[in-house]
Amino acid sequence: MDLGIKGKRALVTASSKGLGLGCAEALAEAGVDLVMNARGTEALDHAAAAIRSEWGVEVTAVAADITTEAGRAEVLAAAGDVDILVTNAGGPPPGMWTDWDRDDFIAALDANMLTPVALIKALVPGMMARGWGRVVNITSQSVKAPIPVLGLSNAARTGLTGYVAGTSRQVANQGVTINNLLPGIHATDRADALDNGVVAAEGITLDEARAKRAATIPAGRYGTRGEFGAMCAFLCSQHAGYVVGQNILLDGGAVTATI
Ligand code: NAP
Repeated sequence: MDLGIKGKRALVTASSKGLGLGCAEALAEAGVDLVMNARGTEALDHAAAAIRSEWGVEVTAVAADITTEAGRAEVLAAAGDVDILVTNAGGPPPGMWTDWDRDDFIAALDANMLTPVALIKALVPGMMARGWGRVVNITSQSVKAPIPVLGLSNAARTGLTGYVAGTSRQVANQGVTINNLLPGIHATDRADALDNGVVAAEGITLDEARAKRAATIPAGRYGTRGEFGAMCAFLCSQHAGYVVGQNILLDGGAVTATI
């Protein structure tokens, strides 16, 4: 399918690995020029070079912490006017509800709620003025069904979801859509980090921890960044202009709910 976005320009934050990289790759395949970002330079430069060589699109790589004001300023200066924004950042650490104090919540809110809000506020006005734009926020299945050990994530991402629910309806009449993609477990470094927590807690191997988790998923496996990126690119496409303020779950059926 031609997604109709060849020649558009996208900012994909936190995109040197994992789900953000999957989104960047799928947009590049559709002919979209990219601004990519991560804190570390090595994986970022490697990913940017691989995308340039495979799809021939323009890629600008900006090494910065997207959760800080200074990092965002650097990324936004390099991005300029973009047509597509995919927001992403690392997820908060797991723990128990008794572990977290105010500073932990502020850090999680900064990373997973207020950073996407700031990026939306910076870039959506330009999209509205030009009459076309797409925003996709990478959130989590924890918005639909809480993951008890990820209380910080549950809280911060639900806050973003509420913000998007209202804001998306205020900008849709200018050709701009804002939607959220909710990953269930996908095979990335983040999944390895969570599974290594199970390894430490239960004294099992990493393969055993993965098999145990996969057995709880109706699809019987982890998702891939390619599957995730394909859905992201579709939401950014010309065809998805009537999809507004939605929360799309990509979880292999893990969340048991009728709707
Ligand atoms: P990942 O494989 O660990 O990749 C994270 C990417 O984000 C890396 O490129 C990392 O590069 C970059 N990054 C992290 N913090 C950053 C920051 N402050 N500023 C800029 N870049 C940053 O993670 P993932 O699995 O793709 O997860 C992406 C998001 O989806 C996370 O918020 C995660 O919690 C959420 N999620 C993931 C899953 C899953 O199963 N994978 C499920 C539900 C939700 P640097 O480290 O070099 O900065």
